[in-house]
Amino acid sequence: MLQPPYPELDDLLEMIGEAGYHLAEIEASEGAAGNISVCLRWQIEPRIHFPIKDKITLPQPVPELAGATFLVTGSGRRLREIVDEPTANIACIVVNEGGETGKLYTSPRRRFEQVTSEFNSHLAVHYDQILAKNSNFHAVIHAQPLHLTYLSHVPRYQDEKYLNTHLLRWQPETIINLPEGIGFIPFRMPGSDELVRANVESLHAHRVVVWAKHGVMARSDVSVKRAADRVEYAETAAKYEYLNLHSGEIGEGLSVEEIRGICETFNVKQNIF
Ligand SMILES: [Zn+2]
Repeated sequence: MLQPPYPELDDLLEMIGEAGYHLAEIEASEGAAGNISVCLRWQIEPRIHFPIKDKITLPQPVPELAGATFLVTGSGRRLREIVDEPTANIACIVVNEGGETGKLYTSPRRRFEQVTSEFNSHLAVHYDQILAKNSNFHAVIHAQPLHLTYLSHVPRYQDEKYLNTHLLRWQPETIINLPEGIGFIPFRMPGSDELVRANVESLHAHRVVVWAKHGVMARSDVSVKRAADRVEYAETAAKYEYLNLHSGEIGEGLSVEEIRGICETFNVKQNIF
Protein backbone atom coordinates (compact mmCIF):
# COMPACT_ATOMS: atom_id res chain seq x y z
CA MET A 1 0.00 0.00 0.00
CA LEU A 2 1.50 3.34 -1.04
CA GLN A 3 0.72 6.58 0.78
CA PRO A 4 0.45 9.96 -0.95
CA PRO A 5 2.17 11.70 -2.58
CA TYR A 6 1.88 8.93 -5.16
CA PRO A 7 4.56 8.43 -7.81
CA GLU A 8 3.88 10.29 -11.06
CA LEU A 9 3.42 8.39 -14.31
CA ASP A 10 6.88 9.60 -15.45
CA ASP A 11 8.47 8.17 -12.30
CA LEU A 12 6.73 4.82 -12.75
CA LEU A 13 7.81 4.58 -16.39
CA GLU A 14 11.38 5.42 -15.42
CA MET A 15 11.41 2.82 -12.62
CA ILE A 16 10.08 0.13 -14.96
CA GLY A 17 12.89 1.07 -17.37
CA GLU A 18 15.56 0.93 -14.69
CA ALA A 19 14.28 -2.38 -13.33
CA GLY A 20 14.25 -3.84 -16.85
CA TYR A 21 17.78 -2.64 -17.51
CA HIS A 22 19.05 -4.17 -14.30
CA LEU A 23 17.33 -7.50 -14.99
CA ALA A 24 19.26 -7.64 -18.28
CA GLU A 25 22.47 -6.75 -16.40
CA ILE A 26 22.07 -9.77 -14.12
CA GLU A 27 21.40 -12.09 -17.07
CA ALA A 28 17.72 -12.49 -16.30
CA SER A 29 16.38 -11.17 -19.61
CA GLU A 30 18.08 -12.33 -22.79
CA GLY A 31 16.69 -11.11 -26.11
CA ALA A 32 13.05 -10.16 -25.58
CA ALA A 33 12.58 -12.53 -22.61
CA GLY A 34 10.81 -11.19 -19.54
CA ASN A 35 8.01 -8.72 -18.97
CA ILE A 36 6.92 -6.19 -16.37
CA SER A 37 3.62 -4.72 -15.26
CA VAL A 38 2.36 -2.50 -12.47
CA CYS A 39 -1.17 -1.85 -11.26
CA LEU A 40 -2.11 1.43 -9.57
CA ARG A 41 -5.43 2.53 -8.22
CA TRP A 42 -5.01 6.28 -7.91
CA GLN A 43 -6.05 8.56 -10.75
CA ILE A 44 -3.52 9.35 -13.46
CA GLU A 45 -3.86 11.07 -16.83
CA PRO A 46 -2.48 8.64 -19.43
CA ARG A 47 -3.14 10.68 -22.59
CA ILE A 48 -0.15 13.02 -22.35
CA HIS A 49 2.20 10.03 -22.76
CA PHE A 50 -0.18 7.63 -24.48
CA PRO A 51 -2.53 9.61 -26.76
CA ILE A 52 -3.77 6.69 -28.92
CA LYS A 53 -6.88 5.11 -27.46
CA ASP A 54 -8.15 1.59 -28.28
CA LYS A 55 -10.17 -1.07 -26.52
CA ILE A 56 -8.79 -4.29 -25.06
CA THR A 57 -10.53 -7.39 -23.73
CA LEU A 58 -8.84 -8.40 -20.50
CA PRO A 59 -7.57 -11.99 -20.11
CA GLN A 60 -9.97 -12.44 -17.20
CA PRO A 61 -12.71 -10.28 -15.67
CA VAL A 62 -11.51 -8.13 -12.77
CA PRO A 63 -14.69 -6.27 -11.74
CA GLU A 64 -13.30 -5.01 -8.42
CA LEU A 65 -10.45 -3.33 -10.30
CA ALA A 66 -12.69 -1.07 -12.41
CA GLY A 67 -10.86 2.26 -12.78
CA ALA A 68 -7.46 0.76 -11.96
CA THR A 69 -4.53 1.51 -14.29
CA PHE A 70 -2.01 -1.02 -15.58
CA LEU A 71 1.34 -0.23 -17.18
CA VAL A 72 2.40 -3.28 -19.18
CA THR A 73 5.41 -4.01 -21.38
CA GLY A 74 4.74 -4.74 -25.04
CA SER A 75 5.08 -8.15 -26.63
CA GLY A 76 8.54 -8.80 -28.09
CA ARG A 77 10.12 -5.74 -26.46
CA ARG A 78 13.54 -5.92 -24.82
CA LEU A 79 13.54 -5.09 -21.10
CA ARG A 80 16.98 -3.49 -21.43
CA GLU A 81 15.66 -0.94 -23.97
CA ILE A 82 12.62 0.31 -22.04
CA VAL A 83 14.70 2.88 -20.19
CA ASP A 84 15.71 4.56 -23.50
CA GLU A 85 12.10 5.26 -24.45
CA PRO A 86 9.53 3.88 -22.00
CA THR A 87 6.42 4.87 -23.98
CA ALA A 88 7.67 3.00 -27.07
CA ASN A 89 7.77 -0.20 -25.01
CA ILE A 90 4.90 0.13 -22.53
CA ALA A 91 1.11 0.28 -22.86
CA CYS A 92 -1.33 1.80 -20.39
CA ILE A 93 -4.63 0.05 -19.68
CA VAL A 94 -7.47 1.54 -17.62
CA VAL A 95 -10.04 -1.06 -16.55
CA ASN A 96 -13.63 -0.34 -17.60
CA GLU A 97 -16.72 -0.68 -15.41
CA GLY A 98 -17.54 -4.41 -15.10
CA GLY A 99 -13.86 -5.35 -15.38
CA GLU A 100 -14.05 -7.34 -18.61
CA THR A 101 -12.52 -4.77 -20.92
CA GLY A 102 -10.19 -1.81 -20.68
CA LYS A 103 -9.16 1.35 -22.48
CA LEU A 104 -5.79 0.70 -24.08
CA TYR A 105 -3.63 3.82 -24.31
CA THR A 106 -0.43 3.75 -26.34
CA SER A 107 2.13 6.12 -27.82
CA PRO A 108 2.43 6.85 -31.57
CA ARG A 109 6.02 5.65 -31.13
CA ARG A 110 5.00 2.24 -29.82
CA ARG A 111 7.09 -0.64 -31.18
CA PHE A 112 4.72 -3.50 -30.39
CA GLU A 113 1.36 -4.78 -31.60
CA GLN A 114 0.09 -6.27 -28.35
CA VAL A 115 0.93 -6.26 -24.69
CA THR A 116 3.02 -9.17 -23.42
CA SER A 117 1.51 -12.62 -23.96
CA GLU A 118 2.15 -13.26 -20.25
CA PHE A 119 -0.30 -10.49 -19.28
CA ASN A 120 -2.78 -13.21 -18.26
CA SER A 121 -0.36 -14.39 -15.54
CA HIS A 122 0.43 -10.81 -14.47
CA LEU A 123 -3.24 -9.78 -14.27
CA ALA A 124 -4.25 -12.83 -12.24
CA VAL A 125 -1.52 -12.11 -9.66
CA HIS A 126 -2.34 -8.39 -9.45
CA TYR A 127 -6.01 -9.26 -8.96
CA ASP A 128 -5.34 -11.85 -6.26
CA GLN A 129 -2.86 -9.70 -4.34
CA ILE A 130 -4.73 -6.40 -4.55
CA LEU A 131 -7.95 -8.00 -3.37
CA ALA A 132 -6.20 -9.97 -0.61
CA LYS A 133 -4.39 -6.91 0.74
CA ASN A 134 -6.74 -4.14 -0.36
CA SER A 135 -3.67 -2.46 -1.80
CA ASN A 136 -3.47 0.49 -4.20
CA PHE A 137 -0.23 -0.56 -5.91
CA HIS A 138 1.27 -3.81 -7.13
CA ALA A 139 4.22 -4.70 -9.38
CA VAL A 140 4.91 -8.00 -11.16
CA ILE A 141 8.00 -9.10 -13.07
CA HIS A 142 8.58 -12.19 -15.16
CA ALA A 143 12.27 -12.82 -15.82
CA GLN A 144 14.51 -15.72 -16.80
CA PRO A 145 17.55 -15.69 -14.49
CA LEU A 146 20.20 -18.10 -15.73
CA HIS A 147 21.28 -20.02 -12.61
CA LEU A 148 17.88 -20.30 -10.97
CA THR A 149 16.32 -21.53 -14.19
CA TYR A 150 19.18 -23.97 -14.71
CA LEU A 151 18.71 -25.47 -11.23
CA SER A 152 15.01 -25.97 -12.01
CA HIS A 153 16.15 -28.52 -14.61
CA VAL A 154 17.93 -30.59 -11.93
CA PRO A 155 15.46 -33.10 -10.43
CA ARG A 156 16.41 -32.67 -6.77
CA TYR A 157 15.85 -28.89 -6.93
CA GLN A 158 12.33 -29.50 -8.21
CA ASP A 159 11.30 -30.19 -4.61
CA GLU A 160 10.33 -26.92 -2.90
CA LYS A 161 11.77 -27.90 0.48
CA TYR A 162 15.07 -29.02 -1.04
CA LEU A 163 15.26 -25.92 -3.25
CA ASN A 164 14.76 -23.57 -0.31
CA THR A 165 16.98 -25.26 2.25
CA HIS A 166 19.78 -25.28 -0.33
CA LEU A 167 19.35 -21.81 -1.79
CA LEU A 168 18.53 -19.81 1.31
CA ARG A 169 21.72 -20.85 3.12
CA TRP A 170 24.33 -18.64 1.42
CA GLN A 171 23.67 -15.13 2.70
CA PRO A 172 21.79 -13.75 5.73
CA GLU A 173 19.86 -11.38 3.43
CA THR A 174 18.13 -14.16 1.55
CA ILE A 175 15.82 -15.38 4.34
CA ILE A 176 15.26 -11.77 5.47
CA ASN A 177 14.07 -10.73 2.02
CA LEU A 178 12.34 -13.98 1.12
CA PRO A 179 11.00 -15.24 4.48
CA GLU A 180 8.35 -17.41 2.76
CA GLY A 181 11.09 -18.85 0.58
CA ILE A 182 10.94 -19.38 -3.17
CA GLY A 183 7.85 -21.03 -4.63
CA PHE A 184 8.24 -23.75 -7.23
CA ILE A 185 5.83 -24.89 -9.92
CA PRO A 186 6.51 -27.70 -12.39
CA PHE A 187 6.80 -26.92 -16.09
CA ARG A 188 3.58 -25.51 -17.51
CA MET A 189 3.06 -24.38 -21.08
CA PRO A 190 3.93 -20.66 -21.38
CA GLY A 191 0.77 -18.56 -21.54
CA SER A 192 -1.49 -21.48 -20.49
CA ASP A 193 -4.36 -21.39 -17.99
CA GLU A 194 -2.53 -24.08 -15.98
CA LEU A 195 0.44 -21.73 -15.58
CA VAL A 196 -1.85 -18.83 -14.62
CA ARG A 197 -3.55 -20.91 -11.91
CA ALA A 198 -0.41 -22.49 -10.44
CA ASN A 199 1.37 -19.13 -10.49
CA VAL A 200 -1.38 -17.26 -8.62
CA GLU A 201 -1.52 -19.95 -5.99
CA SER A 202 2.24 -19.99 -5.43
CA LEU A 203 2.58 -16.18 -5.43
CA HIS A 204 -0.23 -15.97 -2.89
CA ALA A 205 2.23 -17.52 -0.43
CA HIS A 206 5.62 -16.46 -1.85
CA ARG A 207 7.19 -13.23 -3.12
CA VAL A 208 8.95 -15.04 -5.93
CA VAL A 209 8.18 -18.30 -7.72
CA VAL A 210 10.26 -20.45 -10.05
CA TRP A 211 8.51 -21.61 -13.20
CA ALA A 212 10.41 -24.85 -13.83
CA LYS A 213 12.52 -24.92 -16.99
CA HIS A 214 11.44 -21.36 -17.86
CA GLY A 215 12.09 -18.58 -15.35
CA VAL A 216 10.56 -16.78 -12.40
CA MET A 217 7.81 -14.39 -11.43
CA ALA A 218 8.25 -11.90 -8.57
CA ARG A 219 5.86 -9.39 -7.02
CA SER A 220 5.94 -6.36 -4.73
CA ASP A 221 3.33 -3.99 -3.32
CA VAL A 222 6.00 -1.32 -2.75
CA SER A 223 7.81 -0.80 -6.06
CA VAL A 224 8.80 -2.44 -9.31
CA LYS A 225 12.42 -2.20 -8.18
CA ARG A 226 11.59 -4.17 -5.05
CA ALA A 227 10.13 -6.91 -7.26
CA ALA A 228 13.36 -6.83 -9.32
CA ASP A 229 15.36 -7.11 -6.09
CA ARG A 230 13.47 -10.30 -5.28
CA VAL A 231 14.44 -11.79 -8.64
CA GLU A 232 18.04 -10.82 -7.87
CA TYR A 233 18.07 -12.26 -4.32
CA ALA A 234 16.74 -15.57 -5.60
CA GLU A 235 19.14 -15.61 -8.55
CA THR A 236 22.15 -14.74 -6.36
CA ALA A 237 21.24 -17.63 -4.07
CA ALA A 238 21.09 -19.93 -7.10
CA LYS A 239 24.46 -18.62 -8.27
CA TYR A 240 26.02 -19.56 -4.93
CA GLU A 241 24.45 -22.99 -5.14
CA TYR A 242 25.74 -23.44 -8.68
CA LEU A 243 29.23 -22.31 -7.59
CA ASN A 244 29.11 -24.82 -4.77
CA LEU A 245 28.11 -27.68 -7.09
CA HIS A 246 31.02 -26.72 -9.34
CA SER A 247 33.54 -26.67 -6.52
CA GLY A 248 32.63 -30.18 -5.34
CA GLU A 249 30.22 -28.87 -2.67
CA ILE A 250 32.98 -27.71 -0.32
CA GLY A 251 30.95 -24.70 0.90
CA GLU A 252 29.31 -25.09 4.32
CA GLY A 253 26.46 -22.63 3.91
CA LEU A 254 24.86 -21.05 6.96
CA SER A 255 23.84 -23.76 9.43
CA VAL A 256 20.22 -24.20 10.48
CA GLU A 257 21.16 -22.75 13.90
CA GLU A 258 22.81 -19.73 12.27
CA ILE A 259 19.77 -19.09 10.05
CA ARG A 260 17.40 -19.43 13.02
CA GLY A 261 19.61 -16.98 14.91
CA ILE A 262 19.45 -14.49 12.03
CA CYS A 263 15.65 -14.79 11.99
CA GLU A 264 15.47 -14.22 15.73
CA THR A 265 17.76 -11.19 15.59
CA PHE A 266 15.92 -9.59 12.66
CA ASN A 267 12.45 -10.70 13.73
CA VAL A 268 11.83 -12.79 10.63
CA LYS A 269 8.96 -15.28 10.77
CA GLN A 270 9.74 -18.27 8.59
CA ASN A 271 9.06 -21.99 8.53
CA ILE A 272 11.71 -23.27 6.18
CA PHE A 273 14.50 -23.90 8.70
ZN1 LIG B 1 9.30 -16.28 -20.26
